Amino acid sequence: GAKQSGRNGYLFFDPEHSRLAEERVVAIGRVQEALDHDELTLYYQPKVDLKRGVVLGVEALLRWNHPEHGLVPPAQFLPLIEHTGLSARIGDHVLARALDQLDAWSAEGLDLSVSVNISARHLQEPDFAQRLAELLARHERPLGPRLELEVLETAALTDIGFTSSLLERCARLGVRWALDDFGTGYSTLTYLKRLPLQVLKIDRSFVANMLTDAQDRAIVEGVISLARTFDCTAVAEGVETPAQARLLLDMGCEVGQGAGIAAPMPAAEVAGWVREWRGLFALAAAPAVPPP
Ligand code: C2E
Ligand code: MG
Ligand code: MG
Ligand code: MG
Repeated sequence: GAKQSGRNGYLFFDPEHSRLAEERVVAIGRVQEALDHDELTLYYQPKVDLKRGVVLGVEALLRWNHPEHGLVPPAQFLPLIEHTGLSARIGDHVLARALDQLDAWSAEGLDLSVSVNISARHLQEPDFAQRLAELLARHERPLGPRLELEVLETAALTDIGFTSSLLERCARLGVRWALDDFGTGYSTLTYLKRLPLQVLKIDRSFVANMLTDAQDRAIVEGVISLARTFDCTAVAEGVETPAQARLLLDMGCEVGQGAGIAAPMPAAEVAGWVREWRGLFALAAAPAVPPP
């Protein structure tokens, strides 16, 4: 049966609970087939300047367009393959597709940057930087400066010496590095100092609770101030309401992404959305938020 929810509401497998080796092997095989049958597709979520009301770019987010189950989110299949070579193959595919899309948008005169999530396994491929250079070189247009790569703290910090030189090498191709879900990992400030980062993405769990939880609000403020110190842009993820956007602006975070601005959408809808978007009208009406 299609669309039937399994254990814990998962459509077909729950990575956390697929402990049986056979079950995992079968599931990994299905992801492999999804890649081969071109069922993996990218959705794009806008990232905007909250202050100026300008669309800055989009984040590419992977979806499995499953013939029976419909659109399957990455949490339901990426964890299964994260320690396998398939993770790097999918990563390569995602990068290639995102660059093709970026090129197409540039050709239409759409001035956007594209962010791509890079898995730890992909980053650790010995030829990651070389491969990135090759993918960029496929395009006549210089796309490096419009490409942003997002890594999780956990991925970036396994071997700081290796990671910082790899990130430097890629940065020489013009790409920018963002630390994703910042605040949920274990970064030390020393590590932050050693990595060539341009963006810190504030994890949405803090953004979600900052209006009511003084500690989460302090964490958000802390990340914004760290970003300033390290010459990075702070980007808030999971912006769902005008009140959250208002508070972020008051705290000095000008860039946001989230369902309150736009949900991830197919590539074909992006140009129309950008054309129609008129900034956050509701923002002007949102009252200043008192501390909890
Ligand atoms: P992420 O990189 O932190 O991406 C943000 C996630 O938050 C996305 O979930 C997005 O749909 C969701 N989101 C955005 N705005 C809101 C909001 O206002 N409220 C809520 N509740 N959620 C919001 P998604 O697309 O399911 O992706 C989940 C994670 O999977 C991503 O988190 C990223 O870590 C990973 N991922 C997605 N695509 C790729 C990919 O191509 N490669 C790799 N390696 N990882 C990917
Ligand atoms: Mg991300
Ligand atoms: Mg994130
Ligand atoms: Mg996240």
